[in-house]
Amino acid sequence: MRYRRFGKTNLLLSVFSLGTMRCLSSKAIFEQTIERAITLGINHFETAKSYGKSEHYLGQFLAQQPLTCRENLYITTKLPPTPNPDQMSQWLDESLQRLQVDYFDCLAIHGINTWDHFRWLTQPNGCWIALQKALDDRRIHHLGFSTHGNLDLILETIKTNLFEFVNLHYYYFFQRNAPAIVLASQKDMGIFIISPGDKGGGLYTPPDRLKSLCKPFSPLELTYRFLLSDQRITTLSVGAANPEELACPLELELDLGPLTLSEIELFQRLETHIKTTLGSYHCRQCYQCLPCPEKINIPEILRLHNLAVAYDMTNFAQYRYRMFENAAHWFPGNKGSHCTECGDCLPRCPEKLNIPKLLQDSHQQFNGLPRRRLWE
Ligand code: SF4
Ligand code: SF4
Repeated sequence: MRYRRFGKTNLLLSVFSLGTMRCLSSKAIFEQTIERAITLGINHFETAKSYGKSEHYLGQFLAQQPLTCRENLYITTKLPPTPNPDQMSQWLDESLQRLQVDYFDCLAIHGINTWDHFRWLTQPNGCWIALQKALDDRRIHHLGFSTHGNLDLILETIKTNLFEFVNLHYYYFFQRNAPAIVLASQKDMGIFIISPGDKGGGLYTPPDRLKSLCKPFSPLELTYRFLLSDQRITTLSVGAANPEELACPLELELDLGPLTLSEIELFQRLETHIKTTLGSYHCRQCYQCLPCPEKINIPEILRLHNLAVAYDMTNFAQYRYRMFENAAHWFPGNKGSHCTECGDCLPRCPEKLNIPKLLQDSHQQFNGLPRRRLWE
């Protein structure tokens, strides 16, 4: 395992972190997964108030550890934004009790996803009062935020200078948040990427076409290389459900240096493939088509369409598409079936795409049973 400085927190974190959202089938599985992660060199564990028994199990595990072991482990927990400082104060106390600790190594606001969330943090009587008090009395050592919000919101949140780290979506197959990586790095923030194996493209079970295009690497290995060759990024979360699921991502012998020539050529091959396969149906992810009066997240739907057509990533596209209208601000926007063919978006698309037709195709291919977030 290798370790990187987590921005201005100055913590030295393993380049992989264990997200403890999925290993909750029993206390025994939870503890075996944590023990295996520690053996593999992971020193950063992520939990949240909303992850069922995760904080509780983690607290019980930590209480059993000798002090020397505990001192070398770092915990990030997450609490949702709220307009009410008393509510935040109560949640802080409850999380400390569940984790059986006196302070949080890292506390993240869980999901600054909307402008309301942003205001709750920054307004004079908002929850910042409780957070500032906990920072002053050292119950919180380092404060950050996670986000599933749009890029403008992420950039404005970083610009507040209230946070030392950010936990966000950024992958080879989703580079929309690249400016957030630039800004966070300029501000010396720690950068913690949300689950590249899963959210980055369903790469634990990649389709054959993608596997073949990525050879001699696996798609998962390549996506980890894309992220970890970037020295601005500190750590990537792995959401293993049991100890065995840690083997695949963590036993890869990853180089953490710059991309090699053969890796660069491979990414170029993927680029060429998507351009030639999609041709005049290729959405370039410029986001100029928004806003849509029906609140359709056009670029995200067409990103899924790109991935399904070019790389056969239909399962991933279905998994993400079915979250529209089912996961509120965690995955905002309406499905393509809401398109009224009003035509507002058409003159704004530099690629002259037939957006209503592509949305209709996507809906037919991807719609099905609704998906909620993992912990619901
Ligand atoms: S044509 Fe459809 S996608 Fe485009 S703006 Fe109108 S409703 Fe939205
Ligand atoms: S404007 Fe066109 S190319 Fe750009 S994101 Fe929208 S659909 Fe894609």
